[in-house]
Amino acid sequence: MSAAADHRTDAAVAPAPRARQAMLLEPGRLELREFTPAAPGPGELLLKIECALSCGTDLKTWRRGHPMWKLPAPFGHEFAGVVAAAGAGVEQFKPGDAVMAAPTAPCGDCFFCARGQENLCAQAMDRMVMGAYADYLLLPAHVVARNAFHKPDNLPFEEAALLEPLSCVVHAHAMARPERDETVLIVGAGAFGILHAMALKAAGVREVVVAGRGAQRLGWAGEMGADRVIDAAREDAAGAIAGLNGGHGPDLAIECTGQVAGWEDAFRRVRRGGRVVFFGGCAPGTTLGVDTRRMHYDNLTLLAPFHFRPRDVRDAFAMLGARRLGAGRLINARRRLDQLSEVFAMLERSAALKCAVIP
Ligand SMILES: [Zn+2]
Ligand SMILES: [Zn+2]
Repeated sequence: MSAAADHRTDAAVAPAPRARQAMLLEPGRLELREFTPAAPGPGELLLKIECALSCGTDLKTWRRGHPMWKLPAPFGHEFAGVVAAAGAGVEQFKPGDAVMAAPTAPCGDCFFCARGQENLCAQAMDRMVMGAYADYLLLPAHVVARNAFHKPDNLPFEEAALLEPLSCVVHAHAMARPERDETVLIVGAGAFGILHAMALKAAGVREVVVAGRGAQRLGWAGEMGADRVIDAAREDAAGAIAGLNGGHGPDLAIECTGQVAGWEDAFRRVRRGGRVVFFGGCAPGTTLGVDTRRMHYDNLTLLAPFHFRPRDVRDAFAMLGARRLGAGRLINARRRLDQLSEVFAMLERSAALKCAVIP
């Protein structure tokens, strides 16, 4: 609490002058730049970052750039921190408060927002907060107003930073409505696949099976929530999945690879009458071929959740606060901000699921 306490009484306090922010210059090349954090404007908060988390999206961006962000750009979007300064009109937060937030928020009154589909609001993506791999981060007013929360005291900063990925998972489950007596197959043993497994088990789902690749990841999936893991590289993997649920196959298949092959796998493996969730976005330009006979005569339901709505963020916040998921176990590496390049090298090797980056 020491650094936070320094700022507690003076809302207009100047942040540390030598703040650092990681810039992605081009794929594979990072630079830690010094910058002077801007004083927060009306409705804004300047956060002193306590923890940022690596994410699959960051890894993809580090590898090949991102269609939505022009490089060089600051990056990192999963974070938690302490208010260093609050802009005019911010009533719910004050300097020294520990805060967790999603990196996006909808406008609240466009076509999609009016229909409860705030995840499709243009503002959510257009004004996404980037730059959490830094000492300080400016939270814009729309995020402060809708998707920022006081971090519970018993929740570590690094677990609080899971708010964004868990919100995506909560949104997917709100669409798929898993039932307690179901068998759920998760395709992909990365951080998202395992986070789905954790949330499903916490919700009381009877059988959660993770099919994926890599002994290390499958080992983690088994330790962290899956009732059973299936090595997708083995020849008998399809047979093992078909044998689930008394030989009917999984009731619900959740794809978490972001690869077309994973989407096809989820479509093929679900039982007749089952639901498929395409969770991981694939590369631009890719398409999915669907067997119409299978789709129709097997009465499948295909779902493609994208991002999250404020109600999903509130649910994710409550779940993290209750600490029943054990979601902190996903963070199995920690590095300093000046070791960020090493973090991505480590993720490339699948040597960690999620890495905490601590300024
Ligand atoms: Zn993320
Ligand atoms: Zn909107």
